[in-house]
Amino acid sequence: MSGAGAILIIGAGPAGTRAAEVLTGHGLRPVVVDEAPASGGQIYRRQPPGFKRSAKLRYGFEARKAEALHACFDSLRERIDYRPDTSVWSIENKVAFTVGPGGVDRIPFESLLLCTGGVDRVLPIPGWTLPGVYTLGGAQIALKAQGCAIGKRVVFLGSGPLLYLVAYQYAHAGGTVAAVLDTARLRDALPVMPGLLAGGLTLAKGLWYQNWLRFNGIVMRRGVRPIAAEGGGRLTGLRYKNAWGRERHIACDALGFGWGVKPECQLAELADCEMAFDALARQWLPECDADGRASAEGVYLAGDGAGVMGADAAEYRGELAALTLLADSGESTGAARRTYLKTRLRRLMRFRIALERALPYPKGLAAALPDDTIICRCEAVTAGDIRQGQTLQPQEINRAKAYTRLGMGRCQGRMCGIAAAEILAHQKGVPLAEVGRLRGQAPIKPLHIGIAGEAAEDDPDRATSI
Ligand SMILES: Cc1cc2nc3c(=O)[nH]c(=O)nc-3n(C[C@H](O)[C@H](O)[C@H](O)COP(=O)(O)OP(=O)(O)OC[C@H]3O[C@@H](n4cnc5c(N)ncnc54)[C@H](O)[C@@H]3O)c2cc1C
Repeated sequence: MSGAGAILIIGAGPAGTRAAEVLTGHGLRPVVVDEAPASGGQIYRRQPPGFKRSAKLRYGFEARKAEALHACFDSLRERIDYRPDTSVWSIENKVAFTVGPGGVDRIPFESLLLCTGGVDRVLPIPGWTLPGVYTLGGAQIALKAQGCAIGKRVVFLGSGPLLYLVAYQYAHAGGTVAAVLDTARLRDALPVMPGLLAGGLTLAKGLWYQNWLRFNGIVMRRGVRPIAAEGGGRLTGLRYKNAWGRERHIACDALGFGWGVKPECQLAELADCEMAFDALARQWLPECDADGRASAEGVYLAGDGAGVMGADAAEYRGELAALTLLADSGESTGAARRTYLKTRLRRLMRFRIALERALPYPKGLAAALPDDTIICRCEAVTAGDIRQGQTLQPQEINRAKAYTRLGMGRCQGRMCGIAAAEILAHQKGVPLAEVGRLRGQAPIKPLHIGIAGEAAEDDPDRATSI
């Protein structure tokens, strides 16, 4: 037995599952909390009870990995304190505040493994709030979890591995994909070919998806610039410029869009982890050493929440962080395995860096968004509002928040924060890092008003911060 004390794992995706496997293997019984009804995370999301589509149909090439991960988690159920359907909405002084089927609760911990994954990286475009517009992840969840398509004639727009994967999954499932529009250009990929080749099988799968789409007659364009999602009351089409600057219109009743994935790191912030600007991903990430230790004592990070590297890396990082936690609590096993995992991760990191360069977030598009584009949809704050507020204030994004209500709504800036920062930085003519980030604030996820009251009654000291 190790002297690790009470351990909390947040997230039961690939990273959280492997972390739990290691800890239970050493006789520990971690609490595992996940807001999803079942384990698996984003990539290996399970279907609701009663749905009977095969793993092959839901996960394609990843079916065996998905089944292995599900089987692993299921085998741990008796040895962990698993709390599905439970959201962690705050962390303070080594206590996690949760809301789940039984109401609010607090989970004190000695060690914390944050395996919170990521969400779609969104770039708002004019018209993106129309019914019929979904993120790529949202479009995929509809298909993967419930076998539904987001529309009868779907356009996919953006860049990143999910773009071609989701388009392939839709077309393969019999959906009509009107076009796949990539904002990245082929010439972005050429200089980083050696790094892309480090992706091995993952790269091969990405190329397969693209070729399959091409051979099946799906319209595919690179180097596009979206102009607007259009429609009166609901989406009817997308206007964009092609690589030669010519304006085009394509009819569709659904749009899936996104530019990769961004880490979910508000809980890391609330757990007092230092954040650092990652110039490549153009995002703020929690600081983390190569073994998975965060800067805050007793906090470990794994998976996409520590920086997006994909599902295989998430499994390695979950295992690595748990082994590190054990080592820090005096266990002497696992040193060779940690070295091996770090070697694997270094290779995947080369691929990740190349991918980010080949399929970049289109920062210029964000900066050039028309003034009337809604950026923060929760509070209806436009690009113009942000620019206007900016003329009054220094270039700090939390000041813009105070003046405009940017990021104060349901998503707490998870969707709009990145684009808003790009707009501010461009307006002020400063590097992106200088505008800072929307600080994580509790509650990080929407709380039902009755639940907020319950939490406040439970702890009057917290009432003002809810
Ligand atoms: C929508 C979406 C779809 C994706 N689809 C694919 C795909 O098809 N193929 C692919 O290769 N990659 C995909 N990715 C990327 C892939 O999901 C990740 O690389 C991989 O799943 C990372 O594993 P993880 O364990 O770090 O995080 P995840 O798998 O994201 O798991 C994190 C878990 O943490 C839980 N969680 C987060 N915050 C809280 C909280 N506050 N309280 C409680 N629980 C919380 C979530 O419910 C989730 O189950 C997708 C990403 C997203 C966002």
